[in-house]
Amino acid sequence: MASASTTSSMQAEAFPDGTSEYKPLRASNKFDSKKPHISDQPMTLKNWPQHFNWLNTIIIIVIPFIGLISTYWVPANWKTVAFSIFYYFHCGLGITAGYHRLWAHSAYKGSLPLKIYLAAVGAGAVEGSIRWWSHGHRAHHRYTDTDKDPYSVRKGLMYSHIGWMIFNQNPKRKGRTDITDLNEDPVVVWQHKNYIKTFITMALIFPTVVCGLGWNDWLGGFIYAGILRIFFIQQATFCVNSLAHWLGEQPFDDRNSPRDHVITALVTLGEGYHNFHHEFPSDYRNAIQWYQYDPTKWCIWTWKQLGLAYDLKQFRQNEIEKGRLQQMQKKLDQKRATLDWGTPLEQLPVVSWDDFIAQSKEGKALIAIAGVIHDVSDFIKDHPGGKALISSAIGKDATAIFNGGVYNHSNAAHNLLSTMRVGVLRGGCEVEIWKRAQFENKDVSYVNDSSGQRIMRAGNQVTRVSPPIASADAA
Ligand SMILES: [Zn+2]
Ligand SMILES: [Zn+2]
Repeated sequence: MASASTTSSMQAEAFPDGTSEYKPLRASNKFDSKKPHISDQPMTLKNWPQHFNWLNTIIIIVIPFIGLISTYWVPANWKTVAFSIFYYFHCGLGITAGYHRLWAHSAYKGSLPLKIYLAAVGAGAVEGSIRWWSHGHRAHHRYTDTDKDPYSVRKGLMYSHIGWMIFNQNPKRKGRTDITDLNEDPVVVWQHKNYIKTFITMALIFPTVVCGLGWNDWLGGFIYAGILRIFFIQQATFCVNSLAHWLGEQPFDDRNSPRDHVITALVTLGEGYHNFHHEFPSDYRNAIQWYQYDPTKWCIWTWKQLGLAYDLKQFRQNEIEKGRLQQMQKKLDQKRATLDWGTPLEQLPVVSWDDFIAQSKEGKALIAIAGVIHDVSDFIKDHPGGKALISSAIGKDATAIFNGGVYNHSNAAHNLLSTMRVGVLRGGCEVEIWKRAQFENKDVSYVNDSSGQRIMRAGNQVTRVSPPIASADAA
């Protein structure tokens, strides 16, 4: 893999916007560019082997499977198991703190020793080179949930977890991103050019030698600290692409799939606050609350104290809270849209005073309050103040009575009243005053939510007239 590489071949052709298509070092595109790519053809009995990326399939599925079976003959030594877990966390950090937050997102800067450590243990996780991984990840952020997202969850949970690697993908479809900064990082370039050597050393030779020289468990070191540890790290980090786009809450934005969940965080060394992460990708944190599990953040912070990391990026709390508030408002709007707020005033018929009186005399239980006519027929028997009081207001302007003349009705009463409105009085003075105030932008504001629903705040109902008021009993 490393033989064909030169620095210039890594500088893939740049587009005017500075982005580039990912250019692998290995000339693996054996397909005829005029024919449709294998991934665009249906899988048949004849062509199915061409659909598989066999190298990835062997690394991700076949070798771990052999490792699992071989544990039957290779007993687990507790020292080997303890070292496997210890080394698991280092290699996991190589991906989360290194590949992801340092290189893919430039969320902080690392000193050379830290970068070498992260590039080495990151290779031990066997997830490709920093350069390849970060290009894909930047495309994932830029084109989340679209066809250009290399691991779009819209193509299925299993696809986003593992399918995108074990099936051949059309390289033309992967979104373009800018990785010029990575091409200028000597650690990234070196690791990319020597990737196979690096990963075999860090993922297999190193743990085998530690367990062999340490407590003479060569085979156990190879199987447990090598193969099985790789398998667990891979599956855990793949969860960021699958589980973190599928399970949990969306406190910042619900237009795309990323989600926050503590389970994903536990599995991925703190990468589970993925809704936050997609909103604030260059923040060195994934979890912003002290009690949330984000060991990757704690490590980066510790490295800063030790002088190994610097320029940690963090979005202002003000920006974070704005996003959270807007999402809360969106949820409120959705809830508001499900409630009955009464017919909007502008949609009600305009009725003359004489008609109002005439209809009331014909037996309709109509009451005018603040220029709005309400039909209370079905409510008389349920009126908490009794039948007599409400009946005495039929055919009258009850503005004053309702607003403290007899009883200063509750906010709930004003809300309930609005569901009974059936008309607006011609020249009904309160409505007119209210509408004029609206127009002149005074006192009462008339706010619509994102779905066009009017926001009716407590105390702002049109029927609310502040007491004491002069008797407006026009009858
Ligand atoms: Zn994501
Ligand atoms: Zn990311």
